[in-house]
Amino acid sequence: MAADIAELLATLIRDVPDYPQPGVLFKDITPLLADGAAFRAVVAALAAGSADVTKVAGIEARGFILAAPVACTLSAGFVPVRKQGKLPAQTFAESYELEYGTATLEVHTDAFSPEDRVLIVDDVLATGGTAAATANLIRRAGATVTGIVVLLELGFLDGRRKLTDLPVRSLVTV
Ligand code: AMP
Repeated sequence: MAADIAELLATLIRDVPDYPQPGVLFKDITPLLADGAAFRAVVAALAAGSADVTKVAGIEARGFILAAPVACTLSAGFVPVRKQGKLPAQTFAESYELEYGTATLEVHTDAFSPEDRVLIVDDVLATGGTAAATANLIRRAGATVTGIVVLLELGFLDGRRKLTDLPVRSLVTV
């Protein structure tokens, strides 16, 4: 099963050089999303082992596409973690370093209850800053983060270094 998923990801995630800026090899998941059987298999693999979670947090924007079906699979709620200024009600905000500049993510202050056990889902784990900021937001909103699961991990960027307090699972590492 794991080997099948790794093969699907190797075949259906497209490398786009120099996007969005020179020197970045962008991992494009749109071919995977467009293949119904592969999309279904990948959602099942992301959800595996997380039957105990009550909410799934997806990171804007590609994380939403994966996290929402994972939440449905687990009969858990879905919570969007969005870029600054997009959520309509009161939010917590968390800023973090990008390679060039900073970014800010937000979550609604009432998105979670103290009993919530939350799985974070995204497409790619690179330097880990996005996932670490998301985990901080969820904790500030009063819930427990159970772990982070991504389709693809860029191992050479060592994003796990920023996430030592959490279980991190990736379906494939390059
Ligand atoms: P980071 O905070 O460095 O771990 O970056 C992770 C976020 O940026 C994720 O939400 C990814 O969607 C996106 N990202 C970073 N690097 C790439 C890449 N090479 N290809 C596709 N998405 C990426």
